[in-house]
Amino acid sequence: MVVLMASGATDTQIEAVVSRVRRTGGEAFVSRGVHRTIIGLVGDVDRFRALNLRRMAGVADVIRVSTPYKLVGLGHNPERSTVYVGETDTRPGVPVGPGVFTLLAGPCAVESLDQTLEAAEMARAAGATLLRGGAFRQPSPPQAFRGLGRAGLHILAEAGQATGLPVVTEVTEASDVELVARYADMLQVGARNMQNYALLDAVGGLGKPVLLKRGIQATIEEWLMAAEYVAQRGNLNIVLCERGIRTFEPTTPATLDISAVPVVQSLSHLPIIVDPAHASGRRDLVLPLSRAALAAGADGILIDVHPDPDAALCDGPQALGGPDIRELASAIRRLTPVVGRRSAEVATPAPF
Ligand code: PEP
Ligand code: MN
Repeated sequence: MVVLMASGATDTQIEAVVSRVRRTGGEAFVSRGVHRTIIGLVGDVDRFRALNLRRMAGVADVIRVSTPYKLVGLGHNPERSTVYVGETDTRPGVPVGPGVFTLLAGPCAVESLDQTLEAAEMARAAGATLLRGGAFRQPSPPQAFRGLGRAGLHILAEAGQATGLPVVTEVTEASDVELVARYADMLQVGARNMQNYALLDAVGGLGKPVLLKRGIQATIEEWLMAAEYVAQRGNLNIVLCERGIRTFEPTTPATLDISAVPVVQSLSHLPIIVDPAHASGRRDLVLPLSRAALAAGADGILIDVHPDPDAALCDGPQALGGPDIRELASAIRRLTPVVGRRSAEVATPAPF
């Protein structure tokens, strides 16, 4: 913390601040400028806060310089982290982090075994190394498809086994975390639940990798504080996902905050991916926004794919079909070396 004294603050006022800080066991370092004096405080921030220094005579402001997200902040780990998803005794985990560019893809919602197997195969053939699909969904319109629940988890796990891809799926309730974790390799916390602290505690307690989407109205600091909830439970296997925020612009459901990628990287060691589909809601914007994510330094992207997007039970307008996902895959393959990254392993192309 830094105490900024008012211009014209007297020596007695400065001394009063210093001695109040020292009485709590903290240290105070005074720097006198031509017009202003600032006092740097070192010690227990909560105890300093209780001193109410802002109300002391001669004090202009008290500024917090330490962050409220210590474990996910760069102070805890100055190197960027890699999260490994789906690591078992027999297979290495899929890395999400610096160096690689990871494609997470799959059906927005698991609708049936056939549809999920087909979407999973499209994803794998396009170079996806993680299969993402929804079984528990909480869409904003109450009449929209809410997912197959437990039956959807079975299907997803089967598609994961068939393609060899670890599975990522959303969990919406703290009480479902153990159930979902039996089937999934990574648990997604959706935008609407970013500040569901019971859920964050529950996924934190489990230790499995967590995909934490940014709330539609959340600041970057609030998002990192949400990640800190998970981390405080001992789970630092967190991947952040920028998925657009609400702005005054109505053309797209959310405005993709591409600057969040480098901003987060300047504050946190956690990997960050981008979801261009939920931000834009439009298939034609997925490719340009994916290129932007890669160029901005994101560690991967999350894409909805569907064998028949026009017949999808949810998010069809933003889902990629066969030709679109092939085009995206080839753009990623061409661009990743340009920005100094490796593409995710590309599987042998299979006919869709
Ligand atoms: C999703 O990823 O399927 C989803 C609903 O996204 P969000 O939580 O970002 O709205
Ligand atoms: Mn979706």
